[in-house]
Amino acid sequence: MHPCLTCGACCTQYRVAFHWMESDASTPGGVPAALTEPLDRHRLCMRGTRDLPVQCVALDAEIGVRSRCSIHPQRPSVCREVDASWENGVASRQCEQARLAHGLPALTLADWRWRDPADNDDGCPDDNGNDNSPSSPPTPTPIAA
Ligand code: SF4
Ligand code: SF4
Repeated sequence: MHPCLTCGACCTQYRVAFHWMESDASTPGGVPAALTEPLDRHRLCMRGTRDLPVQCVALDAEIGVRSRCSIHPQRPSVCREVDASWENGVASRQCEQARLAHGLPALTLADWRWRDPADNDDGCPDDNGNDNSPSSPPTPTPIAA
């Protein structure tokens, strides 16, 4: 199962701000305007993310158990840009910090093994050239301070 479906942590940690043109008041099929509020002259933010404590109004979750974005096809561009750690082969600082804030362990390459039926966990590279064996941990990507 995709790790985000049992997490949701990042939707409770960051201000979700984006240009007003992303809302469906300006762009058909865009972010539902009713779920946003003004942030400044040029930006809106998702309701629930402007002030602490943060919890996006569109989040339907029990953090660490189940999670879904109720506007997933219409979510803002900033949400699309957050990668889950190691999903694309690199660590994600936003993902790791959000998970740690909820006491959840940082993701590892092993959390993505379910996507690759060619990996038989034998320590050899799979068809994509990846070796997800626990005996060959990834080299962590340094996270900027
Ligand atoms: S914190 Fe990471 S694993 Fe959790 S929902 Fe966000 S991107 Fe997915
Ligand atoms: S719009 Fe969806 S993905 Fe973005 S913060 Fe809210 S619940 Fe999370």
